[in-house]
Amino acid sequence: MKRNMDVPWSYSGDNGPEHWHTLCDWYAQGAEFPYQSPIALVHDETEEPIDQDLAFHYKRERFTEKEFKNTIHFVPYNKESYVTFKGINYYLTDIHFHMPSEHIIDDEQQELEFHLVHMNDDGENLVVGVLFKLTDKLNWICNQQDDSIWDFENHTQWFDPSMFLPERTHHFHYVGSLTTPPTKGPINWFVFDWIGEMSRRFILEFREEVLENNNRPLQDRKDRPIYFY
Ligand SMILES: [Zn+2]
Repeated sequence: MKRNMDVPWSYSGDNGPEHWHTLCDWYAQGAEFPYQSPIALVHDETEEPIDQDLAFHYKRERFTEKEFKNTIHFVPYNKESYVTFKGINYYLTDIHFHMPSEHIIDDEQQELEFHLVHMNDDGENLVVGVLFKLTDKLNWICNQQDDSIWDFENHTQWFDPSMFLPERTHHFHYVGSLTTPPTKGPINWFVFDWIGEMSRRFILEFREEVLENNNRPLQDRKDRPIYFY
């Protein structure tokens, strides 16, 4: 099987989302997973959780900032932050964002969605999604008013990834896929229903490099359950 991570893909045109599964065998195999992401999330259509909740064990650590796969990524050097779900640790491997949001909550799309991507020792992914509105408040990166940790020149930052998490912890949980090629599943998704505020100025620091409209269209929910914690 051709397994080429360099096969180019985009969000429009001949290698846009409706064509991803035709671009190489690896993408085709990922697209075969029947429960794709993102999906529309509706409070009224959720069920009582059957599993224990997600537990966060995040700590301040060093990240490098890189551009690839049509967005900006913050990648931890040492993978010190992790979450625990059903007794298994999933280590934070990547933080990136989409504009506008990929998930839509109660019919409302937001300007921005951050994804905190985790992986366990078996290579299985767990992704936490947080939706944001952009704000013009100065010195307001994300739920806090201190931006002194950001060194845009060196593309290296120290921060606690908890800064991207909401104050309230209510969230949806469902099983879906990656939202970028190879769109493989199953992926445990956790999407907070709290809408954060993100500094427009902070995002503008990356604008020259960021491809806007980097959101995959909504996928069919089919018969899958959505849990609400
Ligand atoms: Zn993403």
